[in-house]
Amino acid sequence: MPLIRLLPDLLISQIAAGEVVERPASALKELLENSLDAGASDIRVDLEEGGIKTIRVADDGAGIARDDLPMALARHATSKIESLADLERVASLGFRGEALASIASVARVAIVSIARGERHAWRIEAQDGAVSAVEPAALNRGTVVEARDLFFNTPARRKFLKTPATEYAHCLDAFTRLALARPQVAMTLSHNGRVMARYPAQDWQARVLAVLGDDFARQARLIDEAAGDVRLYGWAGLPAYAKASRDAQFLFVNGRFVRDKVLSHAAREAYRDILHGSRHPAYCLFLKIDPVRVDVNVHPAKTEVRFRDAQAVHRFVFHALERALAGNQSGSEANAGE
Ligand code: ADP
Ligand code: MG
Repeated sequence: MPLIRLLPDLLISQIAAGEVVERPASALKELLENSLDAGASDIRVDLEEGGIKTIRVADDGAGIARDDLPMALARHATSKIESLADLERVASLGFRGEALASIASVARVAIVSIARGERHAWRIEAQDGAVSAVEPAALNRGTVVEARDLFFNTPARRKFLKTPATEYAHCLDAFTRLALARPQVAMTLSHNGRVMARYPAQDWQARVLAVLGDDFARQARLIDEAAGDVRLYGWAGLPAYAKASRDAQFLFVNGRFVRDKVLSHAAREAYRDILHGSRHPAYCLFLKIDPVRVDVNVHPAKTEVRFRDAQAVHRFVFHALERALAGNQSGSEANAGE
């Protein structure tokens, strides 16, 4: 009898889910990214018990057609790329076609959606690798995805969840990053029935200040510089606003929150001569760069990127930031909106 055999489908998804769905916040991030990729202009998030009991994301995006609903839950099934060429210039937040399948393998998932042009909405449910029939449902616009009882069928993973308060804090971080990344989208976050954050559609300057608060606004410099096809814009906090933690450091590349050594090192260097001691600067910086010059397909969570020319990016970010902090920013577009 052969010893090597294919794993059951559910188990394959649960293993993959280990990379994508670490905790409620990572599931929330995936669902929010899907809503943004669907072109939503208004997204509402409802969490219960830090997202462990329920994560519900409702959007007014393009919706999912009836016949696509089962595919949306299938592994490696996506509407966002078709080829390697697409992958190399991918502009959507998602593209791996893994998130919904992964979440559905470790939670009870229900999707209700109405695609544009359909007369009514449809609903599908998934649990333990089994997908229900598609049933008619009531919904006026967009999509509602609900994930309940995260890790109910993977007790070993469930044990690693922290308290609802801690899981909620991570969910809030995920929500905040995407709120910063997409200021033109109205976003609301509720936890246990209470509204915790609400942002109207606004320009990026207003959104950053709304998220980081009035104190930051009074002690931050506006940056907006371009060199060739690379642009850096955002707000950089002055030394007086420095923090004990790195919590107020946000870096985005092409609308995607990233943790990137090249960029954070450039920022650290720019602050080196003006910020002393062990405090950390606050900043929210957006880098726009031709997608072919950056690889986002490094890790399933997609918070890592790889630049083709890391040195040039480092130099540009360092100098732009240094100039802004010195208060003699070159270029007259410093006050231009997006
Ligand atoms: P990916 O985002 O990488 O394509 P997902 O598993 O997250 O993979 O989603 C699978 C597919 O389901 C998407 O490609 C998209 O077509 C559809 N989808 C998921 N969420 C939504 C949503 N909120 N609105 C519209 N379509 C959605
Ligand atoms: Mg996705």
